[in-house]
Amino acid sequence: MPKILKRNADPCTITGCKWFKSGEFVYIPFYIDTNYCKRHVNKTKRLTAEVKSTCIRFVPFKTKNSDYLYFYTRPNDGCWSYIGRQGGGQFISLEKNKCLRTSTVSHEVLHALGFNHEQVRIDRDQYIRVLFQNIKPEQKFNFWKVETNNMGSPYDYNSVMHYKKYAFSKNGRPTIAARSRRVHSFGNSYGMSNTDINRVNKLYNCREK
Ligand SMILES: [Zn+2]
Repeated sequence: MPKILKRNADPCTITGCKWFKSGEFVYIPFYIDTNYCKRHVNKTKRLTAEVKSTCIRFVPFKTKNSDYLYFYTRPNDGCWSYIGRQGGGQFISLEKNKCLRTSTVSHEVLHALGFNHEQVRIDRDQYIRVLFQNIKPEQKFNFWKVETNNMGSPYDYNSVMHYKKYAFSKNGRPTIAARSRRVHSFGNSYGMSNTDINRVNKLYNCREK
């Protein structure tokens, strides 16, 4: 039994925003908006299966389910998710034609599972510099540090939760710089990194394969 859960997860995962485990698996019911067309529905289903190397299983929503994810698409609503289980039905906005890349779906799903952005980790200043002078004022909050819990989880430049170098730049200059000269790229993941997968396994006490 872990005494203190120190994972790269949002503080809410300690106070109750984790999804419930039933036996070996965490079953997360999901409902797909009827505004998607068939090929988008298929893609959404395929991408939610990305987590299969963990103990998370997405299952179709049934009316008896109390907590569930609602994948929806509305013009100009963009890509976003709440962090962790909110209780009841909760939205994940995945605008069709914009947010159905593997990296984006994985990113929003990891938010819903309780994970925060990599660059807001409490220890991030050892690994990156945030260049606040280049960030759009209304987006600065996205770069504020969070008291995440990082036990055994290295800072991962390749995490699908890491922002890109020019995220929310107001002037075309970088908003994030790596501290190590050996790190040339970050925030370019195509899907969940090994570290992302390990974190899910740890947070949800998945049995390691
Ligand atoms: Zn995000």
